[in-house]
Formats: sequence, structure tokens, C-alpha cells
Amino acid sequence: MASQIDLHCHTTASDGALAPKALIDRALGRNIETLAITDHDTMVGYREVREYAKEQGLNLIPGIELSSQWRGIGIHVVGLGMDPAHPVIIEAERSQTEVRRARAKTIATKLEKKLQTEIDFSAIEALAGGEIGRPHFAQYLVDQGLVADRQTAFKKYLGAGKVGDVKSGWPEMETVVKWIVESGGQAVLAHPLHYNLTRTKLLNCIAAFQYAGGKAMEICCGLMDKNQAGQLKKIAQDEGLYGSCGSDFHGPNKFGLDLGVMPVFPPASEVPHVLDAIRA
Ligand code: AMP
Ligand code: MN
Ligand code: MN
Ligand code: MN
Repeated sequence: MASQIDLHCHTTASDGALAPKALIDRALGRNIETLAITDHDTMVGYREVREYAKEQGLNLIPGIELSSQWRGIGIHVVGLGMDPAHPVIIEAERSQTEVRRARAKTIATKLEKKLQTEIDFSAIEALAGGEIGRPHFAQYLVDQGLVADRQTAFKKYLGAGKVGDVKSGWPEMETVVKWIVESGGQAVLAHPLHYNLTRTKLLNCIAAFQYAGGKAMEICCGLMDKNQAGQLKKIAQDEGLYGSCGSDFHGPNKFGLDLGVMPVFPPASEVPHVLDAIRA
């Protein structure tokens, strides 16, 4: 069953395939009632369509997915319900974009060295349209015939621990949590099972996240199975976190992931929904 609430997805403003307006149209077509566009490190896509979403009767919540690191591990923190005009979030977007642009140059240089071939940076800029992310490098490597597909590009060159996984410029997790909270939003630890942390390390990460002011965690993500959702529900309950849910939709794909596709969210008596914290 598809959820009518989806609080995590991407547009062409970051590494999504659909332009913001096309994403809103897809959400309407899939009977989504409440949506948050959470592009990596920018709210440009959200700002572009907030009026349009309103006209169409869609409840569009301000959103962002901020890149950060904790103990050297790349961690994503979703922000929901910020005041999009707050100077703190505007400055955060500016500095994150600056880091992302410098990082793209570094990734290109590292890939050139590793692959012993020139990387055409302007081709990657053209592929990205908006800000450059690792998926654009993956697409470029596929287009150049250097790898068979994007998965292989991540496995060999761009995924965690590989040469193109440059994260040294990102701020500390605690810092991005504070940016979100100061601009009136709720910080949500994104896809907690993506980081391949041991249970102890995940709990340490959550403790640091909460100490910085984070109160919510995604417990229902796209393509997650019931067992994983159950695991995260238990952690949310034990640690007293609000739960959030989002598909992390990046565009139509062969895996069947789409807006609203995720495990069913538990009843409010079991885990309070982050939407209630945003409304409060
Ligand atoms: P970046 O924001 O440049 O660090 O790129 C991170 C994005 O790359 C994620 O949000 C995903 O969209 C994508 N990504 C990360 N790891 C993988 C992977 N193993 N396979 C495919 N896509 C990935
Ligand atoms: Mn992405
Ligand atoms: Mn993410
Ligand atoms: Mn995402």
C-alpha cells in the first residue's frame, strides 16, 4: 500500500530526475497529500513550486537533506518545516553549495588520477543541470563507457570508502542539526540503516544527534523491508524519537520505488509522527 505522506524525495535541483513541477504532478497523481521535497543541500526546488503545490491543494512542507559527517562517516540529516526565509538556513544552503562545488572539482581530479583519463567537467555540469552530486559522476562514467552501469560506478569509484567518496568538506552532523533547529525546523536522521554502522555505533550516532537538538529519525524508507522498519521502530521507541517516513524517490526506476512507496507507518500510540512535532 502506498503512503499518502512522503517526507523525503529529490528533484533536478539536486540529483533527482524530475523537475520540481513534474515531481508535484507525480505526487498528485499518486494521491500523496503531504510531501516534502528534500533536495541535497538546497531548497531551490521547494521554493520554485511552493505556490504551485498550494494551488493544487498539496500540503508541501519545507524540506532539505543536509550532508554532514560524524566520526568521519558521511551522515545525511533531513530538515523539515524550517522557515525558508530564515537567514540561518539561507546561509547554510550557501555554504553547503560552496562545499559541494569545490568537492566536485576534487572528485574529478581524484577520478582522473585513478582512471588515468581526462574527465570533461563541463559534461558533468551539463548532466547535472543544478548542483553536482556523485550520481552525476556515475552517469558520466557510464556514458564514457568506463563502467557498465551506475551501480558499478558506485561500487568501484564513488561509494563509501572509494576514491570519489569525498566528504572531508562537509560540516559536523551536530552543526547541520543546529542549522535546522535554529531555522525553526525538525532535524530527522535520514535512512539510519544506510550507513552500515554496528548497533552500538548507530546508538552513539543517535545520542550525538539528540544532544545537538535532533528529535526525529526516519523509520519507514523506500524499499526497506518490514523487518528493518520494525528494527527502527524499536530504536525510535527506546530513544524517544519522533518517526518520519519518506521514499527517497530520485526518479522513475526499474526497482519499483516511487513516491509513497515504503512500509506502513506504525500507529501514533507506538511512535509519534514528526508531522505532529512540525504542526506543534
Ligand atoms: P552526494 O550528495 O554527491 O554525496 O551523492 C550522494 C547520492 O548518491 C545519494 O543521495 C544517492 O542518491 C546516491 N548514492 C549513494 N550511494 C549510492 C550507491 N551505492 N548506489 C547508487 N546511488 C548511490
Ligand atoms: Mn541522492
Ligand atoms: Mn541520503
Ligand atoms: Mn535523499
